[in-house]
Amino acid sequence: MKAQPIASHFIDGEYVEDTEGAVIESLYPATGEVIARLHAATPAIVERAIAAAKRAQPEWAGLSPTARGRILKRAAEIMRESNRELSELETLDTGKPIQETIVADPTSGADSFEFFGGVIAAGLNGSHIPLGRDFAYTKRVPLGVCVGIGAWNYPQQIACWKGAPALAAGNAMVFKPSENTPLGALKIAEILIEAGLPKGLYNVIQGDRNTGPLLVNHPDVAKVSLTGSVPTGRKVAASAAGNLKHVTMELGGKSPLIVFDDADIDSAIGGAMLGNFYSTGQVCSNGTRVFVQRKIKDTFLSRLKTRTEKIVIGDPLDEATQLGPMVSFDQRQKVLSYIDKGKAEGAALITGGGIPNHVTGEGYYIQPTVFADVTDNMTIAREEIFGPVMCVLDFDGEDEVIARANATEFGLSAGVFTADLTRGHRVADRLEAGTLWINTYNLCPVEIPFGGSKQSGFGRENSLAALEHYSELKTVYVGMGPVEAPY
Ligand code: NAD
Repeated sequence: MKAQPIASHFIDGEYVEDTEGAVIESLYPATGEVIARLHAATPAIVERAIAAAKRAQPEWAGLSPTARGRILKRAAEIMRESNRELSELETLDTGKPIQETIVADPTSGADSFEFFGGVIAAGLNGSHIPLGRDFAYTKRVPLGVCVGIGAWNYPQQIACWKGAPALAAGNAMVFKPSENTPLGALKIAEILIEAGLPKGLYNVIQGDRNTGPLLVNHPDVAKVSLTGSVPTGRKVAASAAGNLKHVTMELGGKSPLIVFDDADIDSAIGGAMLGNFYSTGQVCSNGTRVFVQRKIKDTFLSRLKTRTEKIVIGDPLDEATQLGPMVSFDQRQKVLSYIDKGKAEGAALITGGGIPNHVTGEGYYIQPTVFADVTDNMTIAREEIFGPVMCVLDFDGEDEVIARANATEFGLSAGVFTADLTRGHRVADRLEAGTLWINTYNLCPVEIPFGGSKQSGFGRENSLAALEHYSELKTVYVGMGPVEAPY
């Protein structure tokens, strides 16, 4: 199987190679096979990408929003027409089952281009401020060259969620995908050119933790949007603060999902499974601390165990497969070590807990795993595992569970399942998180803001809120009479 791109980088409308850069091997997680060999960007490549973006941006910002939007909407159409091809590439890049990528990855990227292409004509308007004789007005202006840095769990979606609002607002972008998943973003860059985007506005360069700082510290970069872990977020935010760049930080989480005893139990189990096993558990907003009210604990766990053991693990390119491998050997090792800690610290293993023995080959497979009797101080209840490991914790009362749910440095997401309407809203109001769900979990359509609070980050992706993070206000005061000076 091969997925070798024409070259490693896409700059100023064309593929570019520089073999001086360190080799990045792209492995298919289901087999461990090398499917592409690329090179990390050298400083010369970084300069070239930023220079192209800087040159192209002013003319793009000078177009009418409708003209910009038309190109983005065309890109959305091409993405939908190419959905099968893009989804297969995303599956090769990440190991996620085609059953998921075909409905969740390029399609959500296309939604982003369609949404921002559509709203931009009205979404960037300023205001008129009457001041008696005088008046002022505001306008939203682009920031300039924006940098996007991606994680490996949703490579195409992240490339679009950053690119679409940035371009809609009149910026140019240099995007660096994760070194684990370098392929998808190059296709997005190709599609944007096919849709009519002028050259230089959306550039993709490859690289790792050594490349990122070259972008973040570059004086011509106005904004950095990172999707990644909290430790990386701290470093990137600190560097960006050095020369006062705008930042959006989409970081990790350890989100609570609270199931009250009046909830529709099968829906709650479905929500908890989606919020722990989708994308083999590699989703930042996952509800990995599932608090279940004691009265329904036994029913919840026995039905959860039955449903979890029916999950079809296998070849990600087979449409029947529901759970693929993890993205890399190292990530699987990390998750297995958390499973060992869970066992050692006394959590009850309900199902899973290791490598499935019916999957052969070198793929990075792991069983969907459920621990019960998890307590708040266990390592698996405190740290982000980023794999298919669900921790079930017991609780008795509402005040108690809210206090325990909030007792974390993270604040990305949270969920509550209950049949009591007022309780649902009351609990959502008291949970400390950027995105909350009542009686569902992990749905992130482009229309709603998405992002974290506390250590999970700041800034928002999607919705009109994202436009504010890719633009700034300019205020113009207009004097309508003579200037009255005392001297
Ligand atoms: P990571 O932090 O290791 O890497 C993220 C990206 O940052 C990569 O492209 C990496 O090359 C780059 N990078 C690393 N060090 C850097 C530095 N010093 N300067 C600039 N760039 C640097 O994260 P990951 O392992 O790729 O992804 C998993 C993490 O991402 C998890 O913590 C997960 O929760 C989080 N995540 C968050 C969201 C969200 O929207 N909140 C979405 C997906 C993933």
